[in-house]
Amino acid sequence: MPDRSESDSRKLLRRLRDVLAMPGAGQDRLDRITHLIADSMRTEVCSIYLFRDAETLELCATEGLKKESVHQTRMRLGEGLVGRVARMGQPVNTANAPAAKGFRYMPETGEELFSSFLGVPIQRVGEKLGVLVVQSKTAREFSEDEIYAVEVVAMVLAEMTELGAFGGDDSSLRARHRQPVMFRGGTGQEGAAEGRVWLHEPRVVVTNPVADDPLTEIDRIREAVGRLRISIDDLLAAEQLDKEQKQVLDAYRMFAQSRGWLRRMEEDIMRGLSAEAAVEKEQSTARARLEQVQDPYLRERMHDIDDLSNRLLRILTGQGRDTGAEMPDNPVLVARNIGPAELLDYGRNLRGVVLEEGSVGSHAAIVARALAIPLVIHAGNITSEALNGDPILVDGDQGVAHLRPEETVVRAFRDKIAMQAEAQKRYASLRELPATTTDGVTISLNMNAGLMADLPSLRGSGAEGVGLFRTELQFLVRSQMPKRAELAALYARVMDAAGDKRVTFRTLDIGSDKVLPYMKPNDEPNPAMGWRAIRVGLDKPGVLRMQLQALIRASAGRPLTVMFPFIAEQSEFLAARSHLLREIHREKSLGHPVPERLEIGAMCETPSLAFAPRSFFELADFISIGGNDLKQFFFAADRENERVRRRYDTLNLSFLDFLEGVVKRCAATATPLSFCGEDAGRPIEALAFAALGFRLLSMRPASIGPVKALLRRVELAQARAVIEAARAAGDESARPRLTAWLSSQPD
Ligand code: PEP
Ligand code: MG
Repeated sequence: MPDRSESDSRKLLRRLRDVLAMPGAGQDRLDRITHLIADSMRTEVCSIYLFRDAETLELCATEGLKKESVHQTRMRLGEGLVGRVARMGQPVNTANAPAAKGFRYMPETGEELFSSFLGVPIQRVGEKLGVLVVQSKTAREFSEDEIYAVEVVAMVLAEMTELGAFGGDDSSLRARHRQPVMFRGGTGQEGAAEGRVWLHEPRVVVTNPVADDPLTEIDRIREAVGRLRISIDDLLAAEQLDKEQKQVLDAYRMFAQSRGWLRRMEEDIMRGLSAEAAVEKEQSTARARLEQVQDPYLRERMHDIDDLSNRLLRILTGQGRDTGAEMPDNPVLVARNIGPAELLDYGRNLRGVVLEEGSVGSHAAIVARALAIPLVIHAGNITSEALNGDPILVDGDQGVAHLRPEETVVRAFRDKIAMQAEAQKRYASLRELPATTTDGVTISLNMNAGLMADLPSLRGSGAEGVGLFRTELQFLVRSQMPKRAELAALYARVMDAAGDKRVTFRTLDIGSDKVLPYMKPNDEPNPAMGWRAIRVGLDKPGVLRMQLQALIRASAGRPLTVMFPFIAEQSEFLAARSHLLREIHREKSLGHPVPERLEIGAMCETPSLAFAPRSFFELADFISIGGNDLKQFFFAADRENERVRRRYDTLNLSFLDFLEGVVKRCAATATPLSFCGEDAGRPIEALAFAALGFRLLSMRPASIGPVKALLRRVELAQARAVIEAARAAGDESARPRLTAWLSSQPD
């Protein structure tokens, strides 16, 4: 790189910084900048185009084009050369612009006079903000160094746009991070919340993109990279890394050790950037390049590079995770992804959670569900868009998050929350009343739980007991296998809190999709149908037995209810049951108290169990339908796949017929039957199940009120007749008729 151009770009950056330091409104600054760039580059034209919305670019300042076209000339993303630069996120450099692919003639600007065109994207960490263009009459291609200089200026402009340096009254000049954005993702947990963004990993803000003393900056970047490398080595040396974590860290290390990365950043510094800005420039370039690739592996690497650059920026700026910022009163956690233990640490302080990744069955979703916090997953690139403290609305029902919402959206949303609160108040008045239908059938409404912290809801919600206590969480949030004594103490506290209400403990439902941090992961092509739940428990009974012992000890002579998940055939139930009976026998022989009453049940989560021999139904003390899993296997529709998971209606008559078959088989042996999947908490579904003959439903605590309110106002025999009419008419689903009938019922 020739020395002259180094100092040229440094000179240009210094002049730019001086302009930015001068007081003035946004438009003045942009005008001065275009003047300065054209002057320094010795071109007739310099123009700045900024995004007006996600699809539209607007000419916001120009030196050399007709002034009247400022704020008039607009183009769509991909349109004309400017639009092409924005779409590709890469420079376009041509000596003969009118002949170039995509050129669009815009008479209002007078640009036909200019032959050479160089456009570079104004972007920050892959986030597109606009396009910077220089043009000249002489037909020539711009040199590598000139392109570089314009790119560096564009980057500083991006940084400044981000910081609001061009703010002002004109909305097109508003910083990108002040505009409302809506993210349409998926539902991780239902519910609505209003709050302020709290970033799990806050963005580092670079306030000093330009530096005077390159040698000092080079020292800084070398030291920071050194520290980064050491920190990765430390992480790699830590024990208890699973294969995947190790692979990720190995990739990190390779990248952090790469000479090219440091060399490119040092070159950027020599051209006038600060160490922080050099890191960001590399990050942006890598992102822009990788954004073009579809390959999921490479895209994952893009995240790695991002993470690494963020770590480096934190080292350089001293802005750690703990930035000293104060958590707002009503925090909504925004993160790319988050582990269950970290989410639990935030606990119930959070109003809501919005994740870029995540899945319905992810550990974070399980915790969010246990904490009853609305969760939106797959929310685009929200971590790049959101800043700490931004107002945000979380609509867990629709799987939507509104960042910096417009006033009208806020108002509509508040109405919705108020209506829900109003309804909750109404439900509270039903708390002590039974869920008895007008024709006198009483349904026992129970709640699902998974945390000690859930237990207070047992009284508040009016639940008659805990119909499903998921025991995975205590295993998932630890870095080591919990000890028997710890589990026993926890289960005892759960039973204490429940008092005389029944708690149905489900043994560990863990498998290759819910990998414990301290268990060797298994690569399975289809984890939901793989080695999970009772299959693991029976093949490796050590953990199952330890858990059963903990439950027996916790009961200390009190009644105990245990349920085994994912039983597909009778023999599995027999084997699991005999483990429990053996542990009881052992405890007795040790002189420990044993439960005064023991109930052992099975979860029906695979269709096969419905066809088990009669002896199974006779032996089981109760059966609970795990509808989430059962439905996915009945319809062969993955419950975690957004594309198909809502494709089949729970009220599809084939499914209802199937459930009724189970009701009949249970009735023949007088085996109590319950339903504990998410559907039990949806009022119309709950009504249909009750009409089919279910007498115990277990659901999220918040669903008990709405379900009870509906059951109390209907005649069950009529609901059943409606389902039968739908069946007789050959309807696919009972929903349309049930809904229509319900709307004709008095409130
Ligand atoms: C179910 O499958 O319906 C169920 C209750 O279990 P989980 O959601 O924990 O798999
Ligand atoms: Mg299940």
